[in-house]
Amino acid sequence: MATHADAREMAALRALSAAIGSDPHMTQAAGGNTSLKAGDTLWIKASGTWLKDALSDDIMVPVAMAPLLKAVEERDPAADKPQRFAIENLNPRGLRPSIETTVHALMPQRVVLHVHCVDTISLAVQANGETEVARRLGGIEWAYVPYFRPGLPLARGIAEKLRPGVDVLILGNHGLVVAAETVIDAERLLGRVRSLLARPARVTAAPDIAALTRLAGDSAYRLPADAEAHAVALDPESRRLAEAGSLYPDHVIFLGQGSVVARPGEDVANVIARLGTPPVVILFPGAGVLMRGDAGAGADAMQRCLADVTARVDSAARLNYLTAAEHDELVNWDAEQYRQKLNATGAA
Ligand SMILES: [Zn+2]
Repeated sequence: MATHADAREMAALRALSAAIGSDPHMTQAAGGNTSLKAGDTLWIKASGTWLKDALSDDIMVPVAMAPLLKAVEERDPAADKPQRFAIENLNPRGLRPSIETTVHALMPQRVVLHVHCVDTISLAVQANGETEVARRLGGIEWAYVPYFRPGLPLARGIAEKLRPGVDVLILGNHGLVVAAETVIDAERLLGRVRSLLARPARVTAAPDIAALTRLAGDSAYRLPADAEAHAVALDPESRRLAEAGSLYPDHVIFLGQGSVVARPGEDVANVIARLGTPPVVILFPGAGVLMRGDAGAGADAMQRCLADVTARVDSAARLNYLTAAEHDELVNWDAEQYRQKLNATGAA
């Protein structure tokens, strides 16, 4: 860190990052990232690491900002590989900067917080999301960026929408970005936007654990880590929204395409036989959710997120789902394969 002031801000950012990372309504698994600009260096969360570990682990990587921004400006594919811009002599662990580094570099403010806030996502998946956000964010300088794959495409989308003074971005089918000159101001802005966008979740019945245990049979399927995850199988509207497709990138990365719903009378073995492959998650209408035995903590976090998001979506709204092409673009992207590998090995 260049100065004492920078070091103090970094300490504050780590504490805030750990708090944001421990709130499942703000970030899930390795999703979300935070950054601090110190001179020409952008300190950003490393790819595949979890914000909740910001105090106990070294998760921030230094990146040379000017050449990265030049690559975005010139549409240079190198902008999709932020590791090329990492300052290696300050990066002894060889961590890769977040795949969303360009989002942070483009915002001129010193502190940038990017979160997968469930209230924001629940609005940002609705076809009328921009209008709904506009009704709620009066008095805030915000911009709406339609869905693009994270990396260079999203960076170009943001560059197009950014105007002087904007310190809040709503990313379609993705999440929220807030920016400020200090950590405390960024935290306040995040809190303000979050409360303005907050929507009540539809209330559901309790899961039927006895039925789920019976449906699992002698398979390796297990209950989800968080009881909240069951809601998506218990609420008919949430279930319908989930079954129709994938709503945001991290769903695809951790859970696959859309959601698998068991048909009447099917148990785990029947579902696997019908699909020819064991899905990460199975939704049993009226009973709850079962996770494949080898599903990691990231999958659990994303299944909970799906329940939290769909319970807030206006069930009368038309939704924007990720297209087949957008799905393929995510699963075939080497940056995501790297992040998945970190999660699979538990290094995340
Ligand atoms: Zn994101």
